[in-house]
Amino acid sequence: MTNDVKPQKIWVLGDGQLGAMLKHAAMPLNLTVEPIDINATELPNLQPLDRVTAEREQWPDTPVTQALSEHPHFLNKNTFSTLADRASQKSLLDELKISTAPWQKVEVSTIEATLHEQLGPRVLLKRRTGGYDGRGQHWLKQAEASKIPADWHEQAIAEAAIDFDEEVSIIGVRGKNGDCFFYPLTLNLNTDGILMATVSPTERLSHLQAAAETMLKTLLDHLDYVGVLAIELFRLGDTLMVNELAPRVHNTGHWTQAGASISQFEYHVRAVADLPLTAAIIKAPSVMVNLIGTEWDKRWLGVKGAEVYWYGKSHRPGRKLGHINICSGDKSLLRASLEELRGLLPENYAPCLDWVLKNI
Ligand code: ATP
Ligand code: MG
Repeated sequence: MTNDVKPQKIWVLGDGQLGAMLKHAAMPLNLTVEPIDINATELPNLQPLDRVTAEREQWPDTPVTQALSEHPHFLNKNTFSTLADRASQKSLLDELKISTAPWQKVEVSTIEATLHEQLGPRVLLKRRTGGYDGRGQHWLKQAEASKIPADWHEQAIAEAAIDFDEEVSIIGVRGKNGDCFFYPLTLNLNTDGILMATVSPTERLSHLQAAAETMLKTLLDHLDYVGVLAIELFRLGDTLMVNELAPRVHNTGHWTQAGASISQFEYHVRAVADLPLTAAIIKAPSVMVNLIGTEWDKRWLGVKGAEVYWYGKSHRPGRKLGHINICSGDKSLLRASLEELRGLLPENYAPCLDWVLKNI
């Protein structure tokens, strides 16, 4: 076995928490990961053998994003433009015959009545680009005669309202040689469009695992993708329907930092650096609770099993500021720790913690 020359640097377009956690995961592998602020005035010193990845699916044109996207080793570069626009993302799902909520483009001439006729009495408008955490959504309710906002024509898609049983996601990785590995399905709680908590794995979803893996593998292979990709899904009885795709590490995979021998962040950097991949061992059931609009509380660190990630971002109501993972095969420990957290989180966390307790 030869020792390669020290691996090249991996630049991350974006300098939020996902980039920081990629950097953190790369440290034990002696890989240099450098997240970049897209608005930086100084250009990154890109070398020909470096790799470029992204922690976000879209970006404005800035001197930094231009320099990064011109690099020959920007992995999955063409995938970003396809997935960043909900219209081309949904068209891709249709093309690959992967089930997704019925939809259509909101054109200049689109009127509410046609949308209701074709998609039902409740229609969800989603901005084609830029939406996250439920921002960029607008409900059209026939009963209330709600209107398409004037500036949403040509800028949005319309989706039928899906009366799902619950939300789940599947995350997987594909290496340059085409090998794929998948995590077990994750059960997700979204409240007002924002992810509050996840539980994974759960036995009752295991019969849907193969179907979810087939969907993800179809996409990964079609896109000749390298790295981690996530699919958000709706479960309706025993079937799955895609909500949306994310060509990156994903909030519903944060539990893997505690619950898997290889986290989603490590998988992504391994794939990008073309290092060996193997199936991650799942250690025990894991819970992840997002810290949304909360003030930092050092008492979280005193909760048994709690692994706290605090992103150091400025406080804003509704903003994701951190998360807590707990992984344990001991259900009574999980329960006790979640009850302890209840006393250390704002009152509006009660339904979220009840949901977690019900699903572990
Ligand atoms: P993210 O932060 O995950 O990128 P987002 O704001 O971009 O989210 P979506 O994931 O499309 O947008 O929607 C957010 C949430 O809104 C979903 O998790 C789900 O709870 C709800 N939702 C989305 N589409 C539908 C639909 N067609 N019918 C019913 N609810 C939906
Ligand atoms: Mg989403």
